[in-house]
Amino acid sequence: MNLKNELERLCGKQLKECSNKELYISLLNMVKDMAKDKVSRKGKKKLYYISAEFLIGKLLSNNLINLGIYDEVKQILNENGKDICEIEEMEAEPSLGNGGLGRLAACFLDSIATLGLNGDGIGLNYHLGLFKQVFESKLQKEEANPWIEENSWLTRTEISYPIKFKNFTLQSRLYDIEVTGFNNQTNKLHLFDVETVEEGIVEEGIDFDKEDIEKNLTLFLYPDDSDEEGQLLRIYQQYFMVSNGARLILDECTAKGSNLYDLYDYAVIQINDTHPTMIIPELIRLLMDEGIEMDDAIAIVSKTCAYTNHTILSEALEKWPVRYLKKVVPHLLPIIEVLDNKVRRKFTDENLYIIDKDERVHMAHIDIHYGFSVNGVAALHTDILKDEELNHFYKIYPEKFNNKTNGITFRRWLIHCNPSLAEYITSLIGDGYKKDADELEKLEEFLKDDDVLSKITMIKKQNKEQLKTYIEETEGIVLNSEAIFDIQIKRLHEYKRQQMNALYVIHKYLEIKRGKIPTTPITIIFGAKAAPAYTIAKDIIHLILCLQELVNNDVDVNKYLQVVMVENYNVSKAEKLIPACDISEQISLASKEASGTGNMKLMLNGAVTLGTMDGANVEIEQLVGTDNIYIFGESSEKIMKHYKKGDYISKKYYNKNKSIKEAVDFIVSTQMIKIGKKENLKRLYQEILNKDWFMTLIDFDSYCKKKEEAYKDYEDKKDWAKKMLTNISKAGFFSSDRTIEEYNRDIWKLS
Ligand SMILES: *Cc1c(COP(=O)(O)O)cnc(C)c1O
Repeated sequence: MNLKNELERLCGKQLKECSNKELYISLLNMVKDMAKDKVSRKGKKKLYYISAEFLIGKLLSNNLINLGIYDEVKQILNENGKDICEIEEMEAEPSLGNGGLGRLAACFLDSIATLGLNGDGIGLNYHLGLFKQVFESKLQKEEANPWIEENSWLTRTEISYPIKFKNFTLQSRLYDIEVTGFNNQTNKLHLFDVETVEEGIVEEGIDFDKEDIEKNLTLFLYPDDSDEEGQLLRIYQQYFMVSNGARLILDECTAKGSNLYDLYDYAVIQINDTHPTMIIPELIRLLMDEGIEMDDAIAIVSKTCAYTNHTILSEALEKWPVRYLKKVVPHLLPIIEVLDNKVRRKFTDENLYIIDKDERVHMAHIDIHYGFSVNGVAALHTDILKDEELNHFYKIYPEKFNNKTNGITFRRWLIHCNPSLAEYITSLIGDGYKKDADELEKLEEFLKDDDVLSKITMIKKQNKEQLKTYIEETEGIVLNSEAIFDIQIKRLHEYKRQQMNALYVIHKYLEIKRGKIPTTPITIIFGAKAAPAYTIAKDIIHLILCLQELVNNDVDVNKYLQVVMVENYNVSKAEKLIPACDISEQISLASKEASGTGNMKLMLNGAVTLGTMDGANVEIEQLVGTDNIYIFGESSEKIMKHYKKGDYISKKYYNKNKSIKEAVDFIVSTQMIKIGKKENLKRLYQEILNKDWFMTLIDFDSYCKKKEEAYKDYEDKKDWAKKMLTNISKAGFFSSDRTIEEYNRDIWKLS
């Protein structure tokens, strides 16, 4: 195909005369056509990856890369005076996910298509996605985030099901997004929707009538669930997703010849966290409708479903009150009760029950009893599941438990987001690494090559200059590109401990004020959204924004220290921040971060990790060795002991250590209260002093020391470049292609 002619045909005029928007739409339509032509494998057995989130990010450039036409398109546009990066800016980012879990699902779809496996995604088409974050008076405000335009990646299909709730029935509509693999086939992301949704019901910010289900069902991802209506809406969403998914799966399997008794020969369903758990009772119900005996239906479904656990934070393990399920999906309750009774007849341990004594349904327990596989997402996380959190289950079903350490797609997180590094790597070792990530290890032979070391330092510098330009345009802050770029980007949560990094900023600020000047200037960058109802997380954002104002406007300090919190952290922002990072902050309280994937993206782009022995950091440390990572803090064993004994007292650390006391007190100093809101700062201060549930102060001292060590090492440019190169060369293990091969080998067994 002559791409230029095709584009001009789609635009209806010469490329030179097209606006960027027109070019974007033409490219989108061209890519959609090309993707449709790449049919996917039609094996007998198919994987269905069902997830409440798919944080896919913008799709244009990624699709161009995967279809193998990115360079050609870029050149054609260039010859006609157009810049592909500006055209990319025309695309709205689909915000169909919160963070790591949704991004993982997106990376998996890329790898499934790239490996040529027969597998599709199933989720919901949230019209306004996750909220858009704006900062007003140094506070997070949430706004609606519409992303669906007249021309979008969605294709309306003929598929539609009546979905029955207690008091009404809603007719669904399936939309598909083509997922292109790298030099391979195309699979589908199936997103269910209702056509009666009305964006007009959104009032101020993201407020809307939570009870008008017909109009609001697929408006937002995770609408505020701090009240009963919000929780009921989530149950409506979850049931809508799984009921549609279950029907689609049964239709596809019967069309291929399944008699439903052999469903597991035709389908394997990967349940991504507990949100889609109701697919288990729903499938049982639908099989019984087809005349299958209940015990048989239960056995069939149990051989079809596998569950991935993403967290040990108890507030994230869903437990729905029976009362709520009765209000939304009363027809599922008799089935859930039978599932619970079967457990009670077999086991006496109450920890294994599905319905507890407070009449709450433990969704994860349904998955574990009635699925054939339970996997954690990093080695440490899986060990904690087996030995602690899910030990009761591990004892009865050891054969179900397995680990699948997370991964990321290198097509987006290297080739697309850091083209200069990718090109340079290709010039050194060829481009085999794009499909076989382990080939990155070939870079190790250049560890003593001064030219290579200075070239990767130069690429990092250029990426920092680009980020500087971007931050100046978007945030109005002029970064010092000579500084170390120390970056913490992830959802805001106390366990991720952005507050510890903020306390370090205070500590450093006060040191500089007293005349202790750092040898290399430091720029600390944050990006994080807080859940709308999570008060303390929002207070931490407020603290960081106050520090940003204080530090950046203090002429004694701002030459040596800068603080920036980028607004509305999302995939597009991540793609700009990650290539420019020197130090990757992965400082969660040990045992709390299941895996992390940001840590992998940053490592792949030559950032050196400053982190705790948590999640996949443990595996990063094993791969790069202690010289190429900065590890600090208490071990997960010690932390878990503290929780068991309940003997952590933050005030003890506060009283014992002068710099801790000084930094914590500064939160409510007159200077800070002048800049910020007293109520918010005071609440955060009290929280850290009296509760500090995620033990910020236990690690603060060792964090500061390690950070100083990293900053000091950074001054030796050549030695630092070796650390960068080692990190890049060892990142191959974290390709999601490897993760997906393991899922397929151990769980899905697709041919
Ligand atoms: C990768 C990614 C995450 C996950 O980051 P963690 O550091 O693993 O929590 C969250 N949000 C976005 C936009 C991402 O790209």
